[in-house]
Parts: sequence; structure tokens; C-alpha cells
Amino acid sequence: MDIKANLNRIKSSLANPNCQLIAVSKTKPLSDIQAAYEAGIRDFGENKVQELTDKAPNLPKDIRWHMIGHLQRNKVKYIAPFVHLIHGVDSLRLLKQINKEGKKIDRKVPCLLQIHIAEEESKFGLDGEELKALLLGEEIRSMSHVEIKGLMGMATFTDEKEQIRKEFAQLRKLRDSFDPDSLPPNVNLAELSMGMSGDYEIAIEEGSSMVRIGSAIFGERNYE
Ligand SMILES: *Cc1c(COP(=O)(O)O)cnc(C)c1O
Repeated sequence: MDIKANLNRIKSSLANPNCQLIAVSKTKPLSDIQAAYEAGIRDFGENKVQELTDKAPNLPKDIRWHMIGHLQRNKVKYIAPFVHLIHGVDSLRLLKQINKEGKKIDRKVPCLLQIHIAEEESKFGLDGEELKALLLGEEIRSMSHVEIKGLMGMATFTDEKEQIRKEFAQLRKLRDSFDPDSLPPNVNLAELSMGMSGDYEIAIEEGSSMVRIGSAIFGERNYE
């Protein structure tokens, strides 16, 4: 697997040069991450807390680690001190826990709220009404140690491009439906984390600001 060549190809295909590339390194060895690092990548995504905390100490300190998977409340404490961005916050309970752990170490933990946009039942996330209740409710205003930076979503796993496009557009429209002035001071919805190896081009066309790409960089994962 020529990681550097893959990265160069992907970088040159990013239609929006401001769109941030997160290299999803789950299941991949340290040597692969190091190769991507040497090719200039500083943002890496993992979906398991254990794997993230195992890998991070053995890699360069200027890597920005993104937690992209489903996060259990009892594991927040392990990543709160260093995680660059938690992409998958999908409940008020989880957000409260992140705030609590952030408070203990006096760090504002950056988060994205995960929205359910796919047709599949299995994917995590809030729906539009739940998001609205969370953002415009009272509780979030008292959370001094979380910073909401945007929304994250995963499209349906399908070959139907129009379906995928519709779902990404739906996420962007949901974001745009909030008047920035009505949001709490710790909430900003500038970031839209959407797009993976199979659909990042569509995601960028629909306004993505960060794409999470794994297999197109590192090859297929072993467990697949
Ligand atoms: C694994 C994963 C990705 C990357 O998937 P690829 O199809 O390999 O690019 C992106 N986002 C999340 C949340 C993931 O779990």
C-alpha cells in the first residue's frame, strides 16, 4: 500500500482546499500512521478509545487526534485530556459527562454533535428535533467545559449517489437552519464533518469542512 501516493491523489481531488482531511487509522499499525505523518498529515481519526490511548503515546506529539466512533460515557475520562475533537456526541448525557471530565482537568473539550441522516436504523445520532432541543435548551448554556464546533453525519451505505447527496444536503440545511445569534456562547456550527472514502467528493460538494478517510489511504481494514 503506497500511503503517500494515496494521500497525494486524495489531496489533489479535494475540490475545496479548505476542507480538512482526517486520516482514519483504525486497525492500522503505528508504521502506517507514521508514513502518513511523514507525508504531511497531522489529523488522525480512531473509533475506539482503547486503540486511541494505546497509539497516541507512541507517535509524534503534534498529531491532532479525532475520536470518530461511538463514545461510551465511562471512557470519556481517558481521552478528555488530549483529544482534539470528539465527532460522535449523540446525547445530552454524553455531553454532560464530557463537560464533567473537562471541568476536572480545566480543559474545554471540542465536540461535534452527531446527526442521524442515513436511512439505516443502526447508525447513531440525534434527529433534527433532538438537536434543536439540545441547542436551544437551558442545560447546554451551563456547560463551561465543552465547546460545540459543528455537526457530524454518516450517509447511507449505498451506491445511489443521489441518496447520499440528499442526506449530506440535509445535514447542511439543518445546520443552516440555526440563527448563529440564537445559539449559546459555547456553540458554533461552522464545522460539518461528513464524507468517507466512498462518498467524500459528494460531501465536499454539499459543504463538508472535514472528511474522514480511511481505506482510500491505508487500504481495506483487516476485519472487513
Ligand atoms: C471507519 C470510519 C471512517 C472511514 O471509513 P472509510 O470508508 O475507510 O474511509 C469514517 N468515519 C467513521 C465514523 C468511521 O468509523
